[in-house]
Amino acid sequence: MSVITDKSEVSLQTTGRCTFCGGYLYHPFVEWHGSPEDPEEKGFRIITICGRCCERYSKGLQADLLQIGAIIELERLYPGFTFVREYRGTHERRAAQQQSAEDALIAEVVAARAKGKTHN
Ligand SMILES: [Zn+2]
Repeated sequence: MSVITDKSEVSLQTTGRCTFCGGYLYHPFVEWHGSPEDPEEKGFRIITICGRCCERYSKGLQADLLQIGAIIELERLYPGFTFVREYRGTHERRAAQQQSAEDALIAEVVAARAKGKTHN
């Protein structure tokens, strides 16, 4: 990956357009060269990202890449098991619901014990 900060660094391999928004590239921008998976294949996969898209997507894109990379790695370690990415809000809501259910069950058991009953 290269961060192109001025005209002296401009690569002739780019289309001059941002891969994400399609807008013209102005300095600074990112030019990322990905090696092909097949070593026999020549050339690079080039992604260019304009400064505005870097600002807009930097945190989300980085998090997405890390999470998907982790899922792929885990699926390699646990073949046949499918890992699903979950948004933080969904996880927090489910954890809160689970905690409420557990709290209710504990309260029920405590109340039953107070009355001298056992919980089934
Ligand atoms: Zn862009």
